[in-house]
Amino acid sequence: MTPEEVVERYSRVISRASHVTYVPIVPYRAENALVWDIEGRKYIDFLADAAVQNVGHNNPRVVEAVKKTADRLLHFTFIYGFPVEPLLLAEKLREIAPIDEAKVALGLSGSDANDGAIKFARAYTGRRSIIGYLRSYYGSTYGAMSVTGLDFEVRAKVGQLSDVHFIPFPNCYRCPFGKEPGKCRMECVSFMKEKFEGEVHAEGTAALIAEAIQGDAGMVVPPENYFKKVKRILDEHGILLVVDEVQSGLGRTGKWFAIEHFGVEPDIITLAKPLGGGLPISAIVGRKEIMDSLPPLGHAFTMSGNPVASAAALAVIEEIEEKNLLKRAEILGERAKKKLRRMKKKHELIGDVRGLGLMLGVDLVKDRETKERAYDEAKKVVWRAYELGLIVAFLQGNVLRIEPPLTIEEEVLDEGLDKLEEAIEDVEEGRVPDEVI
Ligand code: PMP
Repeated sequence: MTPEEVVERYSRVISRASHVTYVPIVPYRAENALVWDIEGRKYIDFLADAAVQNVGHNNPRVVEAVKKTADRLLHFTFIYGFPVEPLLLAEKLREIAPIDEAKVALGLSGSDANDGAIKFARAYTGRRSIIGYLRSYYGSTYGAMSVTGLDFEVRAKVGQLSDVHFIPFPNCYRCPFGKEPGKCRMECVSFMKEKFEGEVHAEGTAALIAEAIQGDAGMVVPPENYFKKVKRILDEHGILLVVDEVQSGLGRTGKWFAIEHFGVEPDIITLAKPLGGGLPISAIVGRKEIMDSLPPLGHAFTMSGNPVASAAALAVIEEIEEKNLLKRAEILGERAKKKLRRMKKKHELIGDVRGLGLMLGVDLVKDRETKERAYDEAKKVVWRAYELGLIVAFLQGNVLRIEPPLTIEEEVLDEGLDKLEEAIEDVEEGRVPDEVI
């Protein structure tokens, strides 16, 4: 089959609701930061498979753990038994999480983890309201979708959870209050305060759900003291802080959890994507009294705690520890940022370079003054990069998403950045046709 044929057959049988494919990449084999398609073409994966492959595609330790476990126990439901692998995983998560004596619930995806977090928060507090962030992404299931600050069109068609409210995330490049960094009074914090004094009944609010660094919103890093200020307000009203680390967790930003950059202790953390190294598994890690607030079967899936996926997850965490990937993410992140900032000096199309560790965004603009988003140009860059053998994507239509595996070799990272620069230059010079938009 050719990639074009595969894409055409996809469109006949697979719902368009399940993807947002832009380039016709048909993966066949992958290793660390490299992917080969069914025709043997090689690509550098700057997406790490949508932030799944923190320890690299087909990491040997993960593959070995999967094979060994699959050989003797593909599955035994943890609803009616006590398989050992999910236990070892939960103990490990408790050890690394910045929550004292946490308890863990396991699931299958980031979406279900966030649904669970909403349920635990509501059950524990006895309150209903949940605050989410505009432009945030928490997932596709009903609960996660309802607190997501994107895709309001889907919700309008299908309905949503009630008692959900939104606040803007602090975005210092595109400040929702029109302020300049360093010259503001943190209106993002006072807005939240006022919301609790007015429209939203604080004493009826169960939780604020936040990405510590917004991923799909375009890699938005909040100011250093933001979460401390927010946590103070939440504590005043007995509102829980749920931190969605589905994309930013497990070393991506140079720490186990991105929230650790901001000096606050969350009540609940959700994890998925990189956790299973490519197998479907998620975790809700929370204060034990919160995690004990639902009765048996209050949040359970037949396949939760699958032994193979749990063994893979344990291998992922051990790999991060043994290879010191937290440090590596920090070092490579600085290297990439330096190169990207050098590119920004040469290319007007780049309005901003931001991120922490290897969770990076390059904001493409039509004009640096107005910061108008360069939607068409972003599509062209992604397309040209694909032609050059680099997998990259855009967020919010114009922010290039750069999240390679933390294990990417320095020379592969550099080669990928060179390809990206070539793609940007080709777009600026008008060498990429409009047909690809
Ligand atoms: N939260 C965040 C921050 C995410 O980036 C994503 C996926 N993009 C999700 C939740 C949803 O995870 P999943 O696709 O595994 O359901």
